[in-house]
Amino acid sequence: MAIHIPEEKILEIISAANISDIISERVVLKKAGKDLVGLCPFHSEKTPSFTVSPTKQIFHCFGCGAGGNVFSFLMKHDGIGFVDAVTSVARRYGIDLPTSDMSPSQKRTISERQQLFDLNKRVMAFFVSQLEDRAVGENARAYLAKRGFSHEIIQRFGLGFAPNEWDSLVRFFRKINAPQSLAEKTGLIIPGKNQGFYDRFRNRVMFPIFDVTRQIIGFGGRVLDDAKPKYLNSPETVIYSKSHSLYGVQEARNRARETGSVYIVEGYFDLLAMHQHGVTNTVASLGTALTAEHVRLLRRGFAQKAFLLFDSDEAGLKAAHRSVSLFMNEAMDAEVIVLPKGYDPDSYMFAFGREAFDDLSKKATGMVAFLIESAINANGLSMEGKVRIISELTGPLSEIKDSVSQSIYIKYLSERIGVDETAIAGKIEAEKRRASGQYNSGYTNRQEQSSPQAASTGETIISPEMNRIEKQIVTMMLKFPDIIPEIQKRQVLSYFGDKHLMDMGNLLIEHPVVTPEDLSGMMNRLFSPDAQKIMASLVISDDCWDYETANKLICQFMNSRQRRRGSLLNQIKAAEKNNDETLLFELLRQKQAQRAAR
Ligand SMILES: [Zn+2]
Repeated sequence: MAIHIPEEKILEIISAANISDIISERVVLKKAGKDLVGLCPFHSEKTPSFTVSPTKQIFHCFGCGAGGNVFSFLMKHDGIGFVDAVTSVARRYGIDLPTSDMSPSQKRTISERQQLFDLNKRVMAFFVSQLEDRAVGENARAYLAKRGFSHEIIQRFGLGFAPNEWDSLVRFFRKINAPQSLAEKTGLIIPGKNQGFYDRFRNRVMFPIFDVTRQIIGFGGRVLDDAKPKYLNSPETVIYSKSHSLYGVQEARNRARETGSVYIVEGYFDLLAMHQHGVTNTVASLGTALTAEHVRLLRRGFAQKAFLLFDSDEAGLKAAHRSVSLFMNEAMDAEVIVLPKGYDPDSYMFAFGREAFDDLSKKATGMVAFLIESAINANGLSMEGKVRIISELTGPLSEIKDSVSQSIYIKYLSERIGVDETAIAGKIEAEKRRASGQYNSGYTNRQEQSSPQAASTGETIISPEMNRIEKQIVTMMLKFPDIIPEIQKRQVLSYFGDKHLMDMGNLLIEHPVVTPEDLSGMMNRLFSPDAQKIMASLVISDDCWDYETANKLICQFMNSRQRRRGSLLNQIKAAEKNNDETLLFELLRQKQAQRAAR
């Protein structure tokens, strides 16, 4: 927090940055008038209420109220701090941050993420050079060629080779003078038992893992023979989180956006095979089960529809079971493509080619239908089989939140196996009740966490109507700075009940907003994310002001506040009489706030 980036620098970054560029790298946005809209990355929704205004350089979600400027977006979306957000925008637009007046420890913090990205990039170049080395990389090159991968695809994905030594990367880090602590944080070297470090990846084909902005966040490695473990990934680091990362996103995104669909496979080679055969809207989950974050990332940033490529074996079925509710809950359309027994996407593509794959794609089935058919295949339609089918499907079916879809699937299952619909529905209801017991306790916990915030806003007595007028006044100060002297003269802000709005008003008096950069700069001065949210919601409105309407609003507000001041005294008396301590406390607080403000 002690790090200080000069305000002029921040303004320079703001005026160079374009919020729609940066957000559209992470969320699919469509034009809607002069704004852009998309599915909110911060809450689950089926129709877009997330709005980005290029003219105002802010974002605002009409659904959950999230909002702010380009920095607040990055902080919230990427889970990083303010300094990192500023640094990453500066880097993207080629603006140098002054580091001369910072202490060494400040310099380290300010760009640790960026330094890790940079170091990973050099590591990738090192692995690539090893793969290309005539002697060192010979076996690895032969291995990739044997598997059918073209030079072009190997280059496009930055594949490399970690030599069969204990310390080739350790030595490389030393050679380039990488700070020891930073090198450790890449997770690519491991401290030895007694002393020194050794390489995590040895004698492996190396796959750099990128994020959507083409920064390298980690690495995966595969052995050249049957040694174990076959695959190895970077550990989680400051910049690499497995549940949020998918392999191949940097290459898949554009095509996914064009086609509106994305293919999901499991492994590195599956992905490379798909891309080499022209199915470039493919990402890979890297062996880990898909998470809600993955699905959300894809639905918001890539496409509405997913095709999951499963083996017809048991593991594939299990994965499908787990995934049903993930996709349903994010309202992402998902269909399943079943590969013939014994094939994965990699071997299938090389054996049968693109055309066969396209034919197979056309036979994709909806996820629930796939589950039902697989359960029937596995258990048969004997009496015992039917019982097992129902008990297998109760879980996934009960997790479908949309009741219409749910009843359609129940009906389908009932007809398919010849069991009464109400009997199946009853089992599902019971399962839902059992599960909702758990959900409820989870929900209560969350509420408890957020309640101190709600209580501290102290809006118990201010009516929503008053709050609305205060909002209007701040909006007016934003949109019509000419009125600010009048607001000052009549001390309008001192009558405000909402603390955030009062702070904003005072800020606007000090720094009136004339250009979009002013606005974004203003956001940075609002330290609380709540205040930023409110500000974005005010800015997004499109009202116009003139002196006459402005004055009317001010008069209306002042009259009602003066009336309320009288009534505040009456209310205090009443509260005293009723021994309502909580109310009394709140009223006295308000009265005091009024006095202090004047
Ligand atoms: Zn939202």
